[in-house]
Amino acid sequence: MSKIDLLKVNDPNGELPNSYYKYSLKKEIKYSTLGKNYKTQICIIGAGFTGLSAGLCLAESGFEVIILEANKVGFGASGRNGGQVGSGQRWNQEKIEKHFGFNKAKKFWEISQDAKKEVKSRIKLHNIDCDFSPGIINTTINKNDTNNLFDEVNSLKRKYQYTKIQKLSSSELSKIIDTEIYDGGCLDLGAGHFNPLKFVQGLGDAAKKNNVQIFENCCVERIDYGNKNTLVLSNGYIVISDYIVIACNGYLGNLEPHISSRVMPINNFILTTEVLKNNLLNSFLKNNYAVADNKFVPNYFRPSPDKRLIFGGGENYTYRFPKDIKRLVRKKMIKVYPQLKNTKIDFAWGGTLAVTRNRLPYFAKIQPNVFSASGYSGHGVALSVLAGRIIAELIKGDSKRFDFMNNIPIKPFPGNSNFQWPLLVLGMLWYSLRDRFK
Ligand SMILES: Cc1cc2nc3c(=O)[nH]c(=O)nc-3n(C[C@H](O)[C@H](O)[C@H](O)COP(=O)(O)OP(=O)(O)OC[C@H]3O[C@@H](n4cnc5c(N)ncnc54)[C@H](O)[C@@H]3O)c2cc1C
Repeated sequence: MSKIDLLKVNDPNGELPNSYYKYSLKKEIKYSTLGKNYKTQICIIGAGFTGLSAGLCLAESGFEVIILEANKVGFGASGRNGGQVGSGQRWNQEKIEKHFGFNKAKKFWEISQDAKKEVKSRIKLHNIDCDFSPGIINTTINKNDTNNLFDEVNSLKRKYQYTKIQKLSSSELSKIIDTEIYDGGCLDLGAGHFNPLKFVQGLGDAAKKNNVQIFENCCVERIDYGNKNTLVLSNGYIVISDYIVIACNGYLGNLEPHISSRVMPINNFILTTEVLKNNLLNSFLKNNYAVADNKFVPNYFRPSPDKRLIFGGGENYTYRFPKDIKRLVRKKMIKVYPQLKNTKIDFAWGGTLAVTRNRLPYFAKIQPNVFSASGYSGHGVALSVLAGRIIAELIKGDSKRFDFMNNIPIKPFPGNSNFQWPLLVLGMLWYSLRDRFK
């Protein structure tokens, strides 16, 4: 059974999707393709947050770097996501402590703090105009979840000295978010949100200014590993490289079977409303905060600078996006904000991310000179940017942070990678069904 090409199935022309983010760009930056054979020290596959960040860090240390992108810079999840630069890992700290013990849990927390810092310092250093705004509210849908969240907040303050977070009772929450469906929440001012496509383009631009050669429309079809690795491109040219960084996340396909057996693509969807006039947006979502709820398939939303609501929610576990993304996500938005039932939707799009079996990221050493990070499981905006730096550190000879992440046990999905879908789908459907009964 041959696999569907994830790079083409939902966006056949390899263009950026027709998203609000694309509409909001002042200018779409373009790069040429590679039209000859090439020899380099470092070859990075994929120009999303992971690949661009790795390339930029390595070039800053004097390495010769090229990045090969099958479509366009930011084509993948990095240019399409909810833009939430969240704290912590996909697991809460309590769960991490139970599994790994407190000392390692502290390290996981430090890494997540470093990840947010990495994003903020790149924005500052390169003057990236990406509408960053502080504050994410995490909401809960029942009393039990609220109590657990409040325990988590207490523990973050006490054990991790994290003071940028505060509990929100139901009445405090309703002063910020005018919806009936949440029971409580917490406000995290150390987290924030931004326009991911503007950020990824800014990273690309910074990489280029640091002499990284970025090539678009340049799909790697095969890799032959060796002392010097050979990458075969779909246009027939080859690249010889001392090191390879595989940064393809949900779009990897079967390019590297060891990774694709552990990192599975799933799709997630977002819409953006028309501009909400007469202070409507501020009447139900105040202070420019983003929101994410605690469902297994979370709803997440935030205001745009031009006063629209950007609302994400809904997943599917087949290769193809549903035909009517607008309808799917609108239904979820109306449940949260019935007051928007007559609001026009201007944009709706989908994106592919990658999950691992246990929802922790997969940092992999495929060969002594081939590395990868992916499978951020929906919590990768900040972590993928840091992952690029962590891979760069490894190549430069400091393996501490890479080894820590590489030690997370990530098991393959059952079945070989061509036949794993049915099991994944069953598992995911079970959990998403549980959301309905919470
Ligand atoms: C709809 C959606 C909403 C999300 N919201 C959030 C959020 O709010 N907060 C959060 O923390 N995370 C979120 N995520 C996850 C987050 O976006 C990702 O974890 C992160 O962007 C991963 O970055 P990456 O660079 O590893 O992968 P990507 O950005 O997917 O980049 C991979 C790149 O590799 C390229 N590629 C693949 N194969 C090849 C090949 N053979 N040759 C050349 N190039 C290739 C692709 O074209 C692509 O550009 C969301 C994801 C989606 C899809």
